[in-house]
Amino acid sequence: MKQYNPHEIEPRWQKAWADADLYKVTEDASKPKRYVLEMFPYPSGDIHMGHVRNYTIGDVIARYSKMRGFDVLHPMGWDAFGLPAENAAIKHHSHPAKWTYQNIDTQKASFKRMGFSYDWDRTVVACDPEYYRWGQWIFLKMWEKGLVERRNSPVNWCPNCQTVLANEQVTEGECWRCHGAVEKRDLTQWYLKITDYAQELLDDLDQLDGWPERVKQMQANWIGRSEGAEVTFTLCGPDGEAPAEPTEDDLITVFTTRPDTLFGCSFFLLAPEYKGLMDLVAGTEYEAGVREVVEQAAKVSAVERAQGDREKHGAFTGRYMVNP
Ligand SMILES: [Zn+2]
Repeated sequence: MKQYNPHEIEPRWQKAWADADLYKVTEDASKPKRYVLEMFPYPSGDIHMGHVRNYTIGDVIARYSKMRGFDVLHPMGWDAFGLPAENAAIKHHSHPAKWTYQNIDTQKASFKRMGFSYDWDRTVVACDPEYYRWGQWIFLKMWEKGLVERRNSPVNWCPNCQTVLANEQVTEGECWRCHGAVEKRDLTQWYLKITDYAQELLDDLDQLDGWPERVKQMQANWIGRSEGAEVTFTLCGPDGEAPAEPTEDDLITVFTTRPDTLFGCSFFLLAPEYKGLMDLVAGTEYEAGVREVVEQAAKVSAVERAQGDREKHGAFTGRYMVNP
């Protein structure tokens, strides 16, 4: 009986495919085009079964399309730039470049063993200057158009990973990568003015055919554009009296989409990050309670705080506002 011996059969055929340049892509304008891209893995080690599943699905689609007569581009590359590589290199007492390219070679060898149909001449490696120069070029073009600005603002900082984290990367005050405590830190950073495109982005959500309504709503919330008015409230003194001539410190401006409902305003809530909040309660019986809320809030991520199912809590400052 003839047995299937993968160690004998697969390398033999993989070599035959490689010798025949079977997966080399040559543009053929007479055929319909198809671009099959799974995703670029992060070279943190060898590939695992999750990769195998993911890239097998893409490979099936690429092969099927090719057999159906499409001109298929099926490239592979590595998302290989940034701090995770540096942290891994520190941990393994290696140079980030050496560590990263070693892992890329390991993964590439595993992909080849799987027999995936990649054109290896079309490889993209994000840490290669030949690749990231284009990111820098795009950044400069945006800078020239006034779409880039530098601001000092509080960020989520992981002292362990020495990196800034997105709100989504902080869970219950912990870093998603190392589970260390995350702190708020004021840092100077670059910002891209995507707000200039808010309306355009919102309008074009309608062009997304076949997208679930829920996902489109999430995108709209993410863009976060809303129309309304700024309303200024006046802060009363510790005696509960409104100042006769309010100074700038006595005025607090809020944004509302419903200025027409202002008469129903029954309380005024300050964010725990509000500048001057602790000055309002300094030396009063309310200081300890407010301090506790502020310290508690610093440990909770912005995403968790925005979730509707969280129990509302706060502390009285002992102060009142005048409803305009
Ligand atoms: Zn961390």
